Amino acid sequence: VNFVKENLKKIKSESSGSESDRQIEEEGPPIQKERKGLPIFEYRDELLAAIRDHNVLIVVGETGSGKTTQIPQYLHEVGYTKYGKIACTQPRRVAAMSVAARVSYELGVKLGHEVGYSIRFEDKTSEKTIIKYLTDGMLLREFMVDPELNSYSVVMIDEAHERTLHTDILFGLIKDLARARSNLKVLISSATMDVEKMSSYFDDAPVFVIPGRRFEVENYYTKAPEADYLEAAVITTLQIHVSQPPGDVLVFLTGQDEIEQAQEMLLTRTRGLGTKIGEMIILPIYATLPSDMQARIFEPTPEGARKVVLATNIAETSLTIDGIIYVIDCGLCKQSSYNPRTGMESLIVTPISKASARQRAGRAGRVAPGKCFRLYTLWSYEHELEENPIPEIQRTNLGNVVLILKSLGIENLVKFDFMDPPASETLIRALEELYALAALNDEGELTKLGRRMAEFPIDPMMSKCIMQAHKYGCVNEVITICSMLSVGNSIFYRPKDRALHADNIRMGFARPGGDHLTLLNVYNQWEESDGSSNWCKEMFIQYRSIQKASDIREQLLELCERVEVEVNEDPCSDCNLIIKSFCSGYFFNTARLHATGLYKTVKNQHSVHVHPSSVLFKDLPRWVIYHELVLTTKEFMRQIIEVNPQWLLELAPHYFKAEDLEDDSFKKLPKNRHK
Ligand code: ADP
Ligand code: MG
Repeated sequence: VNFVKENLKKIKSESSGSESDRQIEEEGPPIQKERKGLPIFEYRDELLAAIRDHNVLIVVGETGSGKTTQIPQYLHEVGYTKYGKIACTQPRRVAAMSVAARVSYELGVKLGHEVGYSIRFEDKTSEKTIIKYLTDGMLLREFMVDPELNSYSVVMIDEAHERTLHTDILFGLIKDLARARSNLKVLISSATMDVEKMSSYFDDAPVFVIPGRRFEVENYYTKAPEADYLEAAVITTLQIHVSQPPGDVLVFLTGQDEIEQAQEMLLTRTRGLGTKIGEMIILPIYATLPSDMQARIFEPTPEGARKVVLATNIAETSLTIDGIIYVIDCGLCKQSSYNPRTGMESLIVTPISKASARQRAGRAGRVAPGKCFRLYTLWSYEHELEENPIPEIQRTNLGNVVLILKSLGIENLVKFDFMDPPASETLIRALEELYALAALNDEGELTKLGRRMAEFPIDPMMSKCIMQAHKYGCVNEVITICSMLSVGNSIFYRPKDRALHADNIRMGFARPGGDHLTLLNVYNQWEESDGSSNWCKEMFIQYRSIQKASDIREQLLELCERVEVEVNEDPCSDCNLIIKSFCSGYFFNTARLHATGLYKTVKNQHSVHVHPSSVLFKDLPRWVIYHELVLTTKEFMRQIIEVNPQWLLELAPHYFKAEDLEDDSFKKLPKNRHK
C-alpha cells in the first residue's frame, strides 16, 4: 500500500510531540476552538496537500476524529467550492441530516443554504448549497441526471467500510469517472477498513491515515450465553447506573421495537429507585426517529444525571456522541438477507462481525478509559463471529440497482467492476424480476416502461404499480397508498394499556379488500380533518408518521409530474383498479390459503402467516398479495390485499402459468370458513 509519505512520517514522529510549523490563527468563537481540538485538525495541511497531489485518496481515521464534519469544510476553506460543490455521502439518512445540521452550525449558516442535505423524499438544499451531505443512494440517482457529476469538484464517499449496496455501486461508477474527469477529487473515507483491498481496487490510490486518540476500553463478557439479551441489556444498564462512576451509557440493540421496549422497561424500573440515585435520561436513536428527537442525543448531560442512549448500529460509526464511557453490546444487528432461489428478502437479526464488535467497544474510549459489556461469551466472540461483515451487495435483492445501472447505459452487468461481485444467481434473479415486471425486454434491454420506472427512487415493484395506475386512472389513490406503505409499520399507535380500544378504532377504518385500502381510508379521513393532530390522537394514529406519508406523497406527486404520469383529479370509484395496480407490481408476493389453514407462497410453497395487525386477520381470504415479509417468531406477511387469481394471470403473464393459480385444494374446505 502506498501510504502518503509525509503523513506516515508525521505518525511516527507524533509521540515526540513535534508541533506543526503552521501558525494557528486567532482563536475565534468557541465552536472554532472546538473544531481545532479534533484529531484531524493537526493533519489539515498535509491532508489538503495529499488531496491536491492525488485525484483519488483513501482517508482512514478513528470514528469521531472529524472526517465527516471537517474535511468538506477544509476543502471549502481552500477554495474547492469555487469550482463546484462538495458531495459527501452517508449510508444512513439520519447521519446525513445530523451531520449537515452540525456543519451548518459550525459555519454559522442556515441549514439548507450553503450546507444542506439530500435524502430520499427530502431535499434540503438550495441554489446556494456548496457542501452537500447526501445518502449514497441519492448520489447514485444524481448519476442518472448527470453521469459526469459536473456540478461537483469533490466527491467524498464516506463510511466506506459499511459497504452498503449503494456505496459499492458508487465505487464502480466513481472509479470510472475519476479516470475520465481529471478535475474531480475523489475521497474514500472510513473508520476502519481493509486498506489494502480498497487501495488496490482504486488503482493503488494512496492512503492517508489520521491517528485517533483513544483510551483503553476493557471488555467484559457474560459467562454463559444470555437467554434474553434485552433483559440482560436493561439489567446491565441499571447496574451501571447504580454502581459505576459518572459517564454516559450507549446500548446497542437491533431495532426500533426493541429500543422502545427497553425504554419502557428502564422507565418502569427506575421509578422506584428513589432520589439518592441520579437521574437517568433515556434517549433512543434509530433511523426513522424524527429529527428533533435525534438532536437530543447530542445535548450535554446535566450535572448528576446519566444519559443512556439506546441505539441501533447507527451509533457504531456514523454518529459520535460525546461523553460515552460505558457500552453495552448485544452482539446482534438487523440485516437484510436475500435468498435468490426463492426471491425472498427479509430482515433478520444476525450476529455482528468482530470488526463491528470492536467498533462498538471503541465508542466507550473516546473521552476517557471505558468499559464495554458484551452480552455474549468470550468463546462466542472468538469462534462464532465473522471477521468482517458481509457486504450488502451479497445479501440483498438487486432489482433496484440493476434498473439504475441499465438506465445509466451499463448493459453488461457481469462485466461491471464490483469490488466484491454479487452472486450471479442474484444478478440473474434481478434481471428475471425486471423482465417479469416488463421493465426489460427479452434481450435484457430497458423498455420504455422500465426507463420511466427508473425515474422513481423506489422499489421497481412499487414504481410498476404507479405506472399501471396511470393506465387505470387511479394514480392519486395508488401514490397515497405507496406513501403510507413507505413510512413502514408506524401509522397505527397501540399503547399497551389501551390496546383493545386502539384495535377497535383501527378496525373501524377497515375496508373490504384489505390493508392497502384501509391505509387509503385513513389518509383520506385525515385529510378531511385538515391534517389535524387532535384527530390523530383520537384515532390512535401517529401524527408524525402520517405527516411523513404526506411529505412522501408530495414528493411522489412531483416525480409523477416530472415523468409525465397523469394524476387523476376525481377520485377513482373502482377499488378493483387500485388493487389490480398493486397486483401488477407485487405479483411475486402472492400467497394462497391452503386447506390446512396455512398460507403458502405460490411460487415456492413457503409457509407464511398473516400478521395479527392486518384488518384481514379474522377473515382470511383465499388469495392475497403481501407488501413485505417480516421474520419475528414466524414469517409474517405485513400489509395484505385480497386478489383475484385471474388478475394475476392477466397482469403477470410472464410469471404465472394457469396451473399456478388453480385453487382446487380449496374445495375440501367447509363452505363457511372463507368467503
Ligand atoms: P468522523 O467522521 O471522523 O467519525 P465527525 O466529523 O462525524 O467524525 O465528528 C467529529 C466531532 O464532531 C464529534 O466528535 C462530535 O464531537 C462532533 N459532532 C459531530 N456531529 C455532531 C452533532 N450532530 N452534534 C454535536 N456534535 C457533533
Ligand atoms: Mg464520519
